[in-house]
Formats: sequence, C-alpha cells, structure tokens
Amino acid sequence: MTLRIRCRHLWDGTRDGWTTDVDLVIEEGRVVRIEACTGEADVDWTSGYVIPGLVDAHDHFCIDMGDGAPEAGEPPEWKVAKGLRTAALMLATGITYLRNAGEKDNVGRWVDRAIREGLSPGPDCVLSGVPITSTGGHGWFLAVETDGPDRFRRAVRTQIKQGAGMIKLIVTGGVTTPGGTLIRPCATPDEIRAAIEEAHANGVKVGAHAYGGPAATAAIISGVDSIEHGTYLSDEDLMEMSKRGTWLVCTSSVMTAAASDRTVAPFMRERFAQVAADYRSTIARARKFGVRVVVGCDTHHGHLADEAAFLVGAGYTVLEALKACTADAGAFLAGEPGLGRLAPGSRADAVLLRGDPLRDVAALKGVTAVMKRGHVWTVGLPGTPPVLPTGDGS
Ligand SMILES: [Zn+2]
Repeated sequence: MTLRIRCRHLWDGTRDGWTTDVDLVIEEGRVVRIEACTGEADVDWTSGYVIPGLVDAHDHFCIDMGDGAPEAGEPPEWKVAKGLRTAALMLATGITYLRNAGEKDNVGRWVDRAIREGLSPGPDCVLSGVPITSTGGHGWFLAVETDGPDRFRRAVRTQIKQGAGMIKLIVTGGVTTPGGTLIRPCATPDEIRAAIEEAHANGVKVGAHAYGGPAATAAIISGVDSIEHGTYLSDEDLMEMSKRGTWLVCTSSVMTAAASDRTVAPFMRERFAQVAADYRSTIARARKFGVRVVVGCDTHHGHLADEAAFLVGAGYTVLEALKACTADAGAFLAGEPGLGRLAPGSRADAVLLRGDPLRDVAALKGVTAVMKRGHVWTVGLPGTPPVLPTGDGS
C-alpha cells in the first residue's frame, strides 16, 4: 500500500530551511519519494510544519522522575503497566524512536514487545537491558551489581545474550542513589576497559553514566561511545571526546524539573538543583570544543522540546538544537538507515507541528499528529487516549 502525505512545509532533519509544497510518498513504512504534489493525497498535513520523528537518546519506559530504591522494588507487572502509559505519552509528543537506557529486570523488553506487536502505541527503541554497576555503586537497586574485570565482561555478555542492543555502564555516582558524590568512581579503569572491549567485540555500543572525575576520564580513553549526563567533565575530557568522536548525551530537563517537584525525595531535589545550575556551562564548553551532543529526557518523559530549548540557551543555534533531536541522534544510534531524517529510504517517521521550529524550538511542543513507520496518529483529541490510531501506511 502506498501512502501519500501532502506537506506545505517539510524539513529533512539537516538543511537550514523548508522544502515547500511536496508529497511524502511512503511504502512499507519507508519514504520512497519526496515529489511535487500530485493528484489526491491520503493525508493532508498542509496545516503546519512537517519534521522527522524525534529521537530521544536517553530515557526509560519504566522509571519515572524521582524513582529511587523504593520504586525499584515494585513488581515488574506494575513497572510494565507504567511503561505502557509512558510509551504512549512519548509517541504523542513526537518521539518515534527511543534509546532505552536500561531498566531493572530488563522489563523494558515487554513494553517494547507490546509496541512492536501492535498492542500499545509507543516509540520503537533500542534496549540496553539492565545497567551494569559495581557492588553498592550508583543505581545498585536496579542494576546488575558485579566486581572485577572478568565479571564486568561476563555481565556484558549476559546482557547481550538477553537481547541488549547497547550496554549501559555506570561508572560514577548519581543523583538518585543516596550517599557518595556524583563523581565518585564506581568502577575501576580495568573494569571499565574490560566491559567496553567485550561490548565492542560483539559489535555493541556502550553508554557510560558518568558525571565526571577519574572514572569518566577512564571511560573516554577506553573508547566508550557516549557519556551520559557529564555535568562535571573537565576541558581535557571534552577535548579528548572531541578528538575521539565520543558523544555527550545531555539530560538537562529532568534536572530542572525534578529540582522543584515535591514528589521527588528532598536529597534528590537538592542534588538536581545543583547539577542543573552547573550544567549549562558544561554544555556550552562541549560546543566550544566540538563535542557531538544529543539529548534525552531521562524520566522527564516527552520533554525533548525543553532539551532543545536548553541547548539554544547554552549558545547552540536553533538548527543545531533541532538536529540533536533528529538527524544527529539518528547518526548516534546508526543502526537504522535514515533515522532522524526525511529522505528517500528513511523510516517514515514524522511529526506535524503547528508552528515553525526553525524560528523557535518551542514549536516542538505543538504536536498535532505523529507518523511512525507509516502509521499516522492524531494527537490530543478531547476524550481520547493521548494517541489515537487513524490510519495505516504499511
Ligand atoms: Zn537514565
């Protein structure tokens, strides 16, 4: 079946400008042509601005903002129920692809399966299984706790065996675990090196949760693919990342939102406020040194527009901020041809916005319709679930 979507304004995910008055022609969930308007269209998207589906480079289906050890103890069935709700919300905000940064008990795979088998709406995703930490290290209550290079290697092999498409390695302290500091190493250089070597030997990328300090440096020089958060990275770390092409995954909006959210535990609120205050200058330095930056909502589900606005506030151009949510995030994931772009051969993932995001990234908040792999949803009709199926293009 062919689906023809009529667009007045189309952005391809890379160019600084709009292509006007074209049809997106879709077959089997992929864009086959972009051509001048011809005949009748199946879907009329001429009322707004069409951009590629958004790519969230770091979030979790089954962890909500402020969740810590008590929530990690909830039964997996409840986590999956919450995850299905979150997945629908993500899609309704234009996120069509997610890099899932890990879940306790690998529960994200059930949400992913429900989405893939059409039981529930949500973004497609790459899963990182269960995060790997050391005994008592950050996130111990939801991670695999292990010690020593051989056991780190084994933990990586186990995650890959259980279907992980990437590895989430925790190498420093974090906001949601009581005690310690954010830059306290929670893996040794040998453990970090062994885990990265093993993942790469299996063709799997590694994202290291790291705020800064010696373990972040060890991860960078051991060839990690991305640093997650990175608030306290030094100039030397950023220069090394730039030289090696290591990505920085910026997760700003959760820091700001959680700092003033009364449902979040007081010790977390304090830490979130501090990292939020310290983050802008880090992200600005990353741009200065030429580090490649993408963004993730990290439990502040569906707020990629805030991530884009944060980049602009830190000195990025609007085009750079939009690419961080689309084509650059697609290049970062690199597993799907054309992810984050609209071009012949790319996934038929697109968002219809009311306003022009190339003028103001806040327009990313005005989503009126979403398409994932050629399936079109209209968003936010009164009295309906957040995402309502209205068509089928595959
Ligand atoms: Zn996370």
